Amino acid sequence: MNTSKVNILLIYTGGTIGMVKDFETGALKAFDFKTLLDNIPEIKLLDCNIDTVSFKEPIDSSNMNPESWVQIAEHIEANYLKFDGFVVLHGSDTMSYTASALSFMLENLGKPVVFTGSQLPIGDLRTDAKENLITSIQVASLQSKGKPVIKEVCLYFEYKLYRANRTTKLNAEDFQAFSSFNYHDLAESGVHLKINTEYLYKPNLRKRFVVHKKLDHNIALFKVFPGITEAFIQSIFSTNNLKAVIIETYGAGNCTTEPWFLEILTKNISKGIHIINITQCVGGSVMMGHYETSSALKKIGVISGKDITTEAAIGKLMFMLGQNISANMFKTMYETPLRGELS
Ligand code: ASP
Repeated sequence: MNTSKVNILLIYTGGTIGMVKDFETGALKAFDFKTLLDNIPEIKLLDCNIDTVSFKEPIDSSNMNPESWVQIAEHIEANYLKFDGFVVLHGSDTMSYTASALSFMLENLGKPVVFTGSQLPIGDLRTDAKENLITSIQVASLQSKGKPVIKEVCLYFEYKLYRANRTTKLNAEDFQAFSSFNYHDLAESGVHLKINTEYLYKPNLRKRFVVHKKLDHNIALFKVFPGITEAFIQSIFSTNNLKAVIIETYGAGNCTTEPWFLEILTKNISKGIHIINITQCVGGSVMMGHYETSSALKKIGVISGKDITTEAAIGKLMFMLGQNISANMFKTMYETPLRGELS
């Protein structure tokens, strides 16, 4: 290793970026990491040392789960002191979920963790993989006075760097697959790499880096819709071991005021189930009490997810449920930004 250069660890989990077509079915499936690297000789031209680790079995990100998130966190934990930055190659389908969860799992992170992937495999002539990967490595290598410029979990895709826990995959067709509606882009890649320094996360670096691996996924998520039935809501709340429910409501956090709906929520809150109100809209925030159709939710103690994304709401919930937070602290803590995930 050249010690004067920045050291980057590439963590390969799978996704389209490293996929090849199955001979018989024509479907895309995950392939090994070596083939992927052989397709980008340009990587050797970068001014940093790159080391790689890979999931034993690279996966389509639709198969990601909290155990896989822990695996990624463990790779970062085991290599935290040896490397200046981390780039995680991941399928785009659930990238925002994984990257959001990791932002909560990696507390007091003082180095960049950049998630990226692509819409087309790296071997495809028109691939977006090369630019995404090369710029992600460059972003993770940025230093100022010998210290990393970026100290948070982010996501790089199609010329933009975003705070990971503010992103959502919105497009399965365009190269620009992700968006961050409620927070500024952290950087834009054009002729120059423009870093929007004022929007970067500023962690308290005097605190020790901690990796949290206890996640509780006894949760449920549903979206309200006109005509939603009592039987459906009852069935969700009768799930075994249920600890919390995220409800995607309309607009600024509004939903039906039918008595049966409010009764089910009230009964479950009194049983200790946490209920979180987030909006179905991609931009904007929950403001309980702004309309009459959300006042009752506020009154019965529903937690406001404010302008959090669904992906970050899930990661934050699994993380907090794993922390044994007391019942009376839970609401306050959920409504407080822990990693810049809400305004
Ligand atoms: N299905 C793929 C995955 O998420 C899609 C992608 O990588 O873009 O692994």
